[in-house]
Amino acid sequence: MSETAAPQAPRFCPNPACAFHGDARGWRYVRDGFHARQRAPLRVQRYRCRHCRRRFSAQTFRPDYWLKRPDLLVPVLHGLLSCACLRQLARALEVSPQTILAQANRLGRHCLLFHQLHRPRGPLTEPLVLDGFESFEYSQFHPTRYHVVAGQASHYFYGFTDSELRRSGRMSRDQRQRRAALEARLGRPSPRSTEREVAALLALLCPTAQELTLHSDQHTDYPRALRQLPHLRVSHRTTSSRAARTAHNPLFSINLLDLLIRHGGANHKRETIAFAKRRQMAIWRLWLLLVWRNHMKWFSERRGQGTPAMRLGLATRRLKPADLLRERLFVSRLELPERWRLYYWGRVTTRALKHCREHRCRYAF
Ligand SMILES: [Zn+2]
Repeated sequence: MSETAAPQAPRFCPNPACAFHGDARGWRYVRDGFHARQRAPLRVQRYRCRHCRRRFSAQTFRPDYWLKRPDLLVPVLHGLLSCACLRQLARALEVSPQTILAQANRLGRHCLLFHQLHRPRGPLTEPLVLDGFESFEYSQFHPTRYHVVAGQASHYFYGFTDSELRRSGRMSRDQRQRRAALEARLGRPSPRSTEREVAALLALLCPTAQELTLHSDQHTDYPRALRQLPHLRVSHRTTSSRAARTAHNPLFSINLLDLLIRHGGANHKRETIAFAKRRQMAIWRLWLLLVWRNHMKWFSERRGQGTPAMRLGLATRRLKPADLLRERLFVSRLELPERWRLYYWGRVTTRALKHCREHRCRYAF
């Protein structure tokens, strides 16, 4: 049986085209019989909107809506946070890897919306720490950098954007030739991407004028990114990436986050075969880790001290998977920043793949 609980009565019309979808004041619906189901709840209440006349049911508001195996959502969530790869999970749960992938992606999209709904609004009150977390997609010839921002005091994971990188570092002669051949065929990632994506990330986290203290390493693209944000008065403090990575390091919260991302996500382990074949899937998976870090994991494993979200006053208790999956979130009822809208709809393309499928499901949202 699924651990998730449906809300008692519908609060708005689930039809995005209905006038009562966003603002349900004055909305009226009627009960419209029941339908039977093979899994609990076995009898599902149906409704009809009196305005657009669309029929829907209590199931429409559940995050496991239209899933054949709603019972897998929570085990998949735990597996993805425990460094399992999709095939290992599929074998353990005796389903196809595609089933796991579909549920993993749905969880990622749900977490993106959950974060957008709960993240702090207005000027940010604590110093931020910025870093680039490096991984790759498809093959080691296609490195990716995730630009991540965390709170220095709360350890809250505020958000991320991503950049494609050109493969660099030590390479054999064969590897250099292969890189040249790939770049001739597929083109080269923009060298300005880090600057652009860091600016985009800070702009969406701090959309209005404010003073901000920002800690980072000495990456030369960061000052250039900050010059693109004239509305922010930023005090930028840098720490060498060679400084000891202890709790006294000003970058401690982000160093710890990098460790947690590699510790929890099989796709970012070094020398792994579970690496992301498309970074879009790694992005959805990172949203799950973000919500887990902010709402489900204690600030300190030994001493507790609240979750990062509790430390920022955004929550009063630690969430369990059932709390996270209490109700379905509708992308049509939320304002997403442009960059994150691309993430939600799966529009991040992988250069090496001809066809990158977007998220277009009508029911399996
Ligand atoms: Zn309606």
